[in-house]
Amino acid sequence: MKNLVVGAGLSGSVIANLLASRLNENVLVIDTKNHVAGNCYDYRDNNGIMVHKYGSHIFHTNNEKVWSFVRKFADFNQYMHRVFAIIDGNETTIPFNFNTLYAVFPPVFAKRLEKKLLEQFEYNQKIPILELQKYDDTDLKFLANYIYEKVFLHYTTKQWGLKPDEFDSAVTARVPVYLSKDDRYFQDKYQGIPLGGYTKLVENILNHPNIELRLNMDFKDVEEHFDRVFYTGAIDEYFDYKFGALPYRSARFTFEEYNREYYQHNSVVNYPCNYDFTRIHEYKYYLNDKSEKTVIAKEYPEAFEVGKNERFYPVPSDENITLYNRYLEEAKNLENVYFLGRLGDYRYYNMDKSIQRAIELFDTLVV
Ligand SMILES: Cc1cc2nc3c(=O)[nH]c(=O)nc-3n(C[C@H](O)[C@H](O)[C@H](O)COP(=O)(O)OP(=O)(O)OC[C@H]3O[C@@H](n4cnc5c(N)ncnc54)[C@H](O)[C@@H]3O)c2cc1C
Repeated sequence: MKNLVVGAGLSGSVIANLLASRLNENVLVIDTKNHVAGNCYDYRDNNGIMVHKYGSHIFHTNNEKVWSFVRKFADFNQYMHRVFAIIDGNETTIPFNFNTLYAVFPPVFAKRLEKKLLEQFEYNQKIPILELQKYDDTDLKFLANYIYEKVFLHYTTKQWGLKPDEFDSAVTARVPVYLSKDDRYFQDKYQGIPLGGYTKLVENILNHPNIELRLNMDFKDVEEHFDRVFYTGAIDEYFDYKFGALPYRSARFTFEEYNREYYQHNSVVNYPCNYDFTRIHEYKYYLNDKSEKTVIAKEYPEAFEVGKNERFYPVPSDENITLYNRYLEEAKNLENVYFLGRLGDYRYYNMDKSIQRAIELFDTLVV
């Protein structure tokens, strides 16, 4: 069998590897970009700092299959991600937890809130703020409104370019307060950064005698015939946008270099209420890179436009899902063309979910 994989990101590289190594088939992998790893692409800059070009990427998973797959191609450090946010001028960790209570409120009030929360709920639970609002208690209501306003509202307005009344109430309701002192952003069993970076990880996944890689090549320019096509690009683009374009959110990163060892206290600091950027990334934290200089990126969310920026986040709405479903129906008429990945499935996947999706698709081919 001759296979074509469109896209050398994680989804494309994983399916290519499985076809090549498990079925001993030939695979051509192409990508329009001049590098592999797609959205996870990273590189060492001239100060030796590993920079994540398209925003910070932290690997985390509970999936044993996914973890054992990636461990064949990279060793990982034990980095556990924390996110700080500037709330009312205080630098504190989010999601909002017991430590945050004491960082932003006077101790007596923080203690009272902590006591009330523990009277109503179990320790170590994530309670949506909507749940807190249901209680006939002014303190719990105050806390819910405070988190909504200071952590969620302005950040989400910037992130999605929406007005507050345009938010999906289901999304608002999910904003949690974490009844814990666990400051980590993720609680997954496995977390870390590949020691050689994500680009190296993907290069290793693609490194197989049955795999040929061609960069700077668009699917439109492929003239050969293939028995199967695995398409990890945008599904609407594949069909020439015949039903209309699927909307995405994107972001612009402005990079700044500083002649000092560190710029901020953590890899990511969110600015929910101030400035037009949502967060500042400082990359040297991920692999503990040593340099007298540091590099940061300010992240400015913006709408996706073809040719201007990258597709980042599918915009979740009923209308967009309906549009995507029309493309999905159209795809069923194709033979031996498989869509996968965050662009092919028009779905936000973390890296582990992209890998899982590729493994599961492969499994359906071999039964
Ligand atoms: C800002 C941001 C931060 C993120 N942070 C995290 C994180 O911390 N942890 C985490 O687990 N996940 C994170 N993710 C998700 C992660 O980036 C994705 O899970 C992963 O990149 C999905 O890989 P993919 O191969 O499906 O897509 P992509 O990486 O986008 O790869 C698709 C590839 O296909 C190529 N392509 C598209 N069309 C064509 C065509 N017509 N011809 C040839 N090539 C084509 C593209 O150039 C691209 O290289 C983040 C995502 C974003 C947007």
